[in-house]
Amino acid sequence: MIADTPDSVATPLALDFDLLRKYDRPGPRYTSYPTAPKFTETADQAALLDAVARENLDPERPLSLYFHLPFCESRCWFCGCTTVITRRHDVAGDYLDHLERELDLMQPWLNSARRVTQLHFGGGSPTFLAPAEIRRLGEMIHARHQFTPDAEISVEIDPRRLTPAQAQAYHDLGCRRASLGVQDTDPRVQVAIHRVQPLAQTREAVRVLRDTGYTSLGIDLIYGLPYQTEASFARTIDEVLSLRPDRLSVFSYAHVPWIKPAQKILERDQALPSPELKLRLFELALRRLTAAGLVHIGMDHFARPEDELAAAARTDHLHRNFQGYSTRAGASLHAFGMSAISQTEHTYHQNTRDLAAYREAVSAGRLPIERGLVLTDEDRRRRTIIMRVMCDRRVDFADLSARIGTDFETAYAPELASLDDLAADGLLRRVPGALEITPAGAVLRRIIAMRFDPSLAADETRYSRTI
Ligand code: SF4
Repeated sequence: MIADTPDSVATPLALDFDLLRKYDRPGPRYTSYPTAPKFTETADQAALLDAVARENLDPERPLSLYFHLPFCESRCWFCGCTTVITRRHDVAGDYLDHLERELDLMQPWLNSARRVTQLHFGGGSPTFLAPAEIRRLGEMIHARHQFTPDAEISVEIDPRRLTPAQAQAYHDLGCRRASLGVQDTDPRVQVAIHRVQPLAQTREAVRVLRDTGYTSLGIDLIYGLPYQTEASFARTIDEVLSLRPDRLSVFSYAHVPWIKPAQKILERDQALPSPELKLRLFELALRRLTAAGLVHIGMDHFARPEDELAAAARTDHLHRNFQGYSTRAGASLHAFGMSAISQTEHTYHQNTRDLAAYREAVSAGRLPIERGLVLTDEDRRRRTIIMRVMCDRRVDFADLSARIGTDFETAYAPELASLDDLAADGLLRRVPGALEITPAGAVLRRIIAMRFDPSLAADETRYSRTI
């Protein structure tokens, strides 16, 4: 069982290994509910756009924007993102032309009085763009949208490609937060995953970003990669901690070669860790990171105690969206570029994942929406419940009832009754009027959330494992 301290600061979380093993099974990450596999190509586009327009009636409703920049110069063999691999940098200018056209196509559907509280550049590699292209992208966005003074603007950085001029260009358009892809610092692992990135290169990227004025840096690691051992991953964690990141994510490698054929290469030499070793790597990360003073936020996310994510976690003010955990509430997400997913109160929709189809649609003056979902009232109630389970330490029944407009305990009595085994295993505590998620439960939040997801039984195997 996990040591149960309020903030877990500098107290290593020691997990019961059998508990981890027991609950290690496929499950969604719940960056949305319903999850993306439920989106359909037959969703009514008029209804999807109508939902976008309806939210404009409230000009106080904030906006969150996402731009998908899909290009990378080489493929990392573990990668599960929607990417376009090319060394031809001239493709970026053409892509920006289409992004600008898409912004214009979306403009009639968005009330320009609504202000942006969050903007994120992901990919692919946002560092594929030249500084002049980054500035152009910033101008395109700022010319069409107003931002709140405290808007959170963030970018994903590939330390192998970052130049000081790129860091400056993203900073000039407002970025203060950056996340750096590292995955593992061990040279043998790096060769095996086709991502050679000496620690000195990552250290230099961190220095450049700090010197440029970025105030929050996150680092992404992955466990479950070929040749990782407990000793090598402990070294990776120590080396990454020496860079003093504000946030750390330790993602589980999802091996899905039937979806991402390049991952098949990782089966060479039979060097992928066994499921047992994979769990031990996660347990090691949890223990070592919390011993170093990081706060466990939920699932695979950690932050320094002074980081706003840790503060939001302490006070149950966390939110969850396609970018993971967030401190910004109530924004609808509008996402641009191939494969990008947008979210309103009543809908999700996703752009085509094919670059040629994306360019063709936008050039023809059509929004490049490929699939989507109009949520039922029941979907929306369950989304609210699942997101509170994914975010809060104390899931308060009165608060949930107010949010979903019906008495939570009565309407979801069967689901609440189904939690007995999780309570017995110490993942949660039943207290009057609430569920308290224990530190062990915070690691296994997906398992608790899955009890409120009626769609799961049929298609569990399409998701990655919960650890
Ligand atoms: S991990 Fe990042 S840099 Fe590597 S292929 Fe995927 S998106 Fe590109």
